[in-house]
Amino acid sequence: MRLILLGLPGAGKGTQAKILAKEKGLLHISTGDMFREAAAEGTELGLKAQEFMKAGALVPDEVTIGMLLERIEKPDAQVGLMLDGFPRTIPQAEALDAALAKQGSQIDAVLYIVVPESELMERLTGRWSCSQCGAIYHNQTKPPKAAGVCDECGGKLTQRADDQPDTVKARLDTNRAWTEQLADFYSKQGKLHEIDGTGDPSDITKRLLSALEGVSAGSEKA
Ligand code: AMP
Repeated sequence: MRLILLGLPGAGKGTQAKILAKEKGLLHISTGDMFREAAAEGTELGLKAQEFMKAGALVPDEVTIGMLLERIEKPDAQVGLMLDGFPRTIPQAEALDAALAKQGSQIDAVLYIVVPESELMERLTGRWSCSQCGAIYHNQTKPPKAAGVCDECGGKLTQRADDQPDTVKARLDTNRAWTEQLADFYSKQGKLHEIDGTGDPSDITKRLLSALEGVSAGSEKA
């Protein structure tokens, strides 16, 4: 099965993608994580991506598409995909469709997690994550037991540079237009499922899983 999670930053894509990938036995690919890892390693790709990420802008298609297509060719990606943060532009979506068609496969369903923007702003600016294990915390909804320290592994909690208020606003503005375009693109393919992304994360997972009940891998239409 090959799935895409769509939604504005902070809609819970990352959290839900990890759970769904485990549940369905799929490879979770987050292009945001790939760029952050490349930036941390100081590779040429990472340093280039970092300039755009810091500004809350999209990394150019030629960089992003090449990186993603290379990743989905690898043997461990053949079990199925849970794409998180890709595609973000129509050319990315078209390149993905073409690459999958070459492999004799296709996207089976697109899950669009919808959350009001006022709630997204609140969620994003209060978000902290562990620099060691990646666990995610929130000032209001999930504070760590000790300030700045991860409950799971004792690692240092850091705020992503692109979760600062000014950058968050820019990210939402940039993301709104393309998210709607992509929702329309996949709706025309009959693959879009809109999911209410408010409330308890475990309820959102249930809604996502129930949307997937009628979807079978390789089907022409979700
Ligand atoms: P995310 O963790 O998905 O919010 O991504 C963090 C940042 O990485 C974004 O704000 C973009 O700058 C960049 N990025 C991630 N995925 C893509 C993509 N598919 N296209 C362009 N830029 C991306």
